[in-house]
Amino acid sequence: MICIRSINALRLHIADEKRKSKAIGFVPTMGALHEGHISLIKQAKAENALCIASIFVNPLQFNNAEDFKKYPIQQEKDIQLMEQAGCDVLFIPSVEEFYPSPPKLSIDIGALDRILEGTHRPGHFSGVAIVVSKLFNVVSPDKAYFGQKDLQQVAVINQLVRELNFPIEIIACPIVREQNGLAMSSRNMRLSNAGKTVASNLFAALSLIKQSISKGERSTSTLVTVGGNYLNTFKEIEIEYLEVVNGDTLESITEIKGVSKVAVCIAAHIEGVRLIDNLVIIL
Ligand code: AMP
Repeated sequence: MICIRSINALRLHIADEKRKSKAIGFVPTMGALHEGHISLIKQAKAENALCIASIFVNPLQFNNAEDFKKYPIQQEKDIQLMEQAGCDVLFIPSVEEFYPSPPKLSIDIGALDRILEGTHRPGHFSGVAIVVSKLFNVVSPDKAYFGQKDLQQVAVINQLVRELNFPIEIIACPIVREQNGLAMSSRNMRLSNAGKTVASNLFAALSLIKQSISKGERSTSTLVTVGGNYLNTFKEIEIEYLEVVNGDTLESITEIKGVSKVAVCIAAHIEGVRLIDNLVIIL
């Protein structure tokens, strides 16, 4: 694996690889790697001659300065993990080169920014759309891999690619979980062991809602109450939102009717750490 830190050096390297007609699979990350990231790297490597990954903690997508400051960084360990996972080229740009001055551009995502994470993290998806567009322009991959852990992000990227005509295929990859169901996340590193155990109840609540749906419950407010009542028994869990939405559009629904899938989405705080998770249920 080679590690490249400047845009120009990466462009030169990629031009060389493209002359050899190598298909490029790209995995953007913010580092602090776990098995979720590794699964993306492995899939990108399996499906492309060349796997390129990036590590960049994008200041633009943090709507909360404290969250940005506390974001875990473990570059040396990440470089090793990337290499072990089979990554060929690791791009680690500097904030100075990526944003020589704060970008004046912002990207209005439209309706997707007015639901779920969009409502709760103003400016987040504009920041994501800008950094992903910049990375796509520099890397020009054939395929790019994103985790369904960030379900709404996948929808935003699909819209970005469609509307800006990026010639890139977006591959959405399944959520990797701990044995107790907790969705892997870099932010889990900030939880105590007890916090991680409590956090596994987020998935338990999503699963409880799934069970209610399979038993025939169709009212989304009743389903949210089922999940909410369960989570409220844990004083350490503070729910930011819990919603059952249309699985295709992520739009709010009051009743599960006329849709082929639903998504149960949650954001919650435990020990001061904001966690998100979701479960897509095919009907
Ligand atoms: P991040 O470093 O958190 O920006 O994540 C980089 C990529 O890894 C994103 O596409 C995430 O959706 C994906 N990812 C994060 N956690 C998981 C997980 N538990 N399972 C699968 N993919 C994940």
